[in-house]
Amino acid sequence: MSATQPDLLPKLAAIVGEAHVLCAAPDMVGYLSEPRDLFHGAALAVVRPGSTQEVAAILRLCHETGTAIVPQGGNTGLVGGQVPDGSGHAIILSLTRMDRLREVDLASNTMIVEAGMTLARVQEEADKADRLFPLSLASEGSCTIGGNLATNAGGTAVLAYGNARELVQGLEIVLADGRVLSNLSKLKKDNTGYDLKHLFMGSEGTLGIITAAVVKLFPRPRSMQTAFVGLKSPAAALELLMLTQKLAGQDVKTFELMPRIGLDFALKHGANTRDPLMSSHDWYVMMELASSAEAGLHETMLHVLQQGMDAGVIDDAVLAASLDQRADFWRLRELMSDVQKLEGGSIKHDVSVPVARVPEFITTASAAIVAAMPGARPVPFGHLGDGNIHFNISQAVGADKQAFLERWDEANAIVHGIVADMQGSISAEHGIGVLKRDLLAQVKDPVSLDVMRAIKAALDPKGIMNPGKVL
Ligand code: ZN
Repeated sequence: MSATQPDLLPKLAAIVGEAHVLCAAPDMVGYLSEPRDLFHGAALAVVRPGSTQEVAAILRLCHETGTAIVPQGGNTGLVGGQVPDGSGHAIILSLTRMDRLREVDLASNTMIVEAGMTLARVQEEADKADRLFPLSLASEGSCTIGGNLATNAGGTAVLAYGNARELVQGLEIVLADGRVLSNLSKLKKDNTGYDLKHLFMGSEGTLGIITAAVVKLFPRPRSMQTAFVGLKSPAAALELLMLTQKLAGQDVKTFELMPRIGLDFALKHGANTRDPLMSSHDWYVMMELASSAEAGLHETMLHVLQQGMDAGVIDDAVLAASLDQRADFWRLRELMSDVQKLEGGSIKHDVSVPVARVPEFITTASAAIVAAMPGARPVPFGHLGDGNIHFNISQAVGADKQAFLERWDEANAIVHGIVADMQGSISAEHGIGVLKRDLLAQVKDPVSLDVMRAIKAALDPKGIMNPGKVL
């Protein structure tokens, strides 16, 4: 416990109730590291408020006492933003008790959800209302909507619907000093000055705490077509993307690129997997069309595939004939990251470049990595339609894992250098957290960094909000 604030814990307990201030090591352990076990920390306590008023009271107290706060949702972040440092001086503010659905408004096509609701539940509530909430990512069963918004999550539906920040109409935020910035607006048109909500989305808890959001709902698809396509190269995949967008327009919802080596890993290590195509191809695309119209989509997909074959960009393709088969395709895509663990050490990058330059990026970065690290196996995959590639590298077969992982920074420098040359981003969808904080300072434009620091100083003058993250 902080020596200067001996009565902090009783005061926190007075706000949220004793049962919701966790201080014992076994109670806190699940909050102090994350599932991949890369980031570990220590905390004074884990505090679990049940309402916006309680969050506000906690922040007032922490502001007064200069106590650091690490906000946490489902604890699934990949860059360590949700884990405290090792000092043990911070409190973790867990939002998971705040999981109510406050309102569904079918005419406005909005829902008001609290921050601690899991993404899967937000999707389910939308479905119950005969609507779609399109944000979709691998951890959706446990990540929370508050965390998704605080980190501006991406995922597999960005191509059609945008990043998390684009799915929000209004936010309720508790500021560092405990004031509530209540802007649960359903207005599509509100041109009254700065759009403050966008400051908090992607801020990773460094400016304030999102406690509720007005999320946008979309028409629920009535028809869906999923294809697994074999092709020769990322350049062919890019041509197919352009062709598909030309022929299917708004109905193109997913366009995911995978290399053969990634499919091999998934087939080798994933339970109940099989190759959807008869013969082997160097690259694959899983693409999905969806429409709120009942009929016509099957014909559209067949037309796309036929045109792709005629143009020589598709070598082979299979359509999911059932929901089970669709799930099989998706499982291959979703296994792509996890199965790499079973191939020894892997060094990862979450980068984006202009869509047109993805093929060039993959070729250049793969060659540079193999030249520097002979035998290393690049496994670049991901959201081609967003220009967002997870440029992962598996160690050489039989090589020493630790020796490979010790070259993490060197591999980063190679890949990020190529990304910079292409005016790309070193963090496309995972955020900065602590993992890329020092890197951000090196690569971000200095004027942008100055503006970010000025905003941070204005909103969090005592530096209590998720200290040591992002900036
Ligand atoms: Zn991704």
